Amino acid sequence: MASEYIELPPDDATKLSPNVHPSLEVDQASLDQHVSIDLSKLDQNIEAITNTVAPNTQLWPVIKDDAYGHGAIPIAKRLAPQVHGFCVVRPSEGVRLRDAGIRLPILVFEPPNERTAPFYSTHDLMASVSHSRHLDLLQPGCSYHVNIDTGMKRLGAPIEELPALLQAIQKRKDIYGKGVYTHFYKADDPGSSTVAEQLDLFQRLQSQFPTEWLRHTANSGAIFHYAKQLPLSFDAVRPGVCLYGYSAGDQAIDSLRPLLSWQSRLVHHQPVKKGESVSYGARWRAPRDGWVGVIPVGYAHGLPRLLSNKMQLCINNELYEQVGSITMDFTLIWLGEDKVPLETPVFLLDAEHLRANVWAEKTQTIAYEITTRISPKVPRVYVG
Ligand SMILES: *Cc1c(COP(=O)(O)O)cnc(C)c1O
Repeated sequence: MASEYIELPPDDATKLSPNVHPSLEVDQASLDQHVSIDLSKLDQNIEAITNTVAPNTQLWPVIKDDAYGHGAIPIAKRLAPQVHGFCVVRPSEGVRLRDAGIRLPILVFEPPNERTAPFYSTHDLMASVSHSRHLDLLQPGCSYHVNIDTGMKRLGAPIEELPALLQAIQKRKDIYGKGVYTHFYKADDPGSSTVAEQLDLFQRLQSQFPTEWLRHTANSGAIFHYAKQLPLSFDAVRPGVCLYGYSAGDQAIDSLRPLLSWQSRLVHHQPVKKGESVSYGARWRAPRDGWVGVIPVGYAHGLPRLLSNKMQLCINNELYEQVGSITMDFTLIWLGEDKVPLETPVFLLDAEHLRANVWAEKTQTIAYEITTRISPKVPRVYVG
């Protein structure tokens, strides 16, 4: 079985961090930036989720795309004793988890195709099925959940096609249906009526499936904004971004703790005179004589260039303004009168003042995009 891990079709190759477990020594000796992931915060976020959902609700954490940039394997290993299964998007992600020794059920969101179908049996992955052709692709012994569309209009089975799908399910006795689910498209908004509409629809449709199948609907938004509305008969939730400490949407959730901090070091500093510009395009000028520092992090590492002149960094527990255009590999900081010594640690992101959701607001995106875009070149270090 082991030799098959490298047989993945090239277009299904998901890039996982090449630096899943670098040793701290190597980082400190040769790297001038790293992302630190505090796994004890993951436990706290799991607790926050369990406190919100109905008792005995199964947790199926979503660790797609390298756990939103946090590293799927270390996250899965930490979560395994506390959860019932994992969700990923591509079979290759599931294969890597199996390779790392993860034994829990793994649900794959994308539909199977001819290239990926064999891996569902070789690596015991659960398929998401939304059409009879998906059933046809699965080899005997495989299991699957049915994904029903109730409004997201992305991957689920359209309602009109459910009767045909149900018929096809009847005919395939050699593969095993284990669950039925849907996905909310506006649960990040606490005041949306669409969640109730989707729930109503799902309530009606799910009754056509065997009672012993697992029912699940909730993502992070639904867990924190709509938990009371979720029928007790629903057995599982699929938390994603909340695991990593961010709320889905604009409303902050106080019980969540970001796992991630991003840290670098000052590699250069220089005096600037009042009125002098720094970096490309002269988009910032010194308000007075002072010092400008440089860190070796830029947009090539996933620091959004749109944050130029808009972000703060933390040095010795004090906040400093980033100034001038962020460049591919370097970013400048206004130090004012402080000639901060070279090698001093500089934080770009942390759990207190410098949160990914603040960057997201300033760049008109969501925390999800910020963390998943931190380059795999940036080593991840695990603490806690
Ligand atoms: C990504 C995803 C989730 C998790 O969403 P969050 O908003 O991060 O909690 C759940 N279900 C499906 C189908 C997804 O694609």
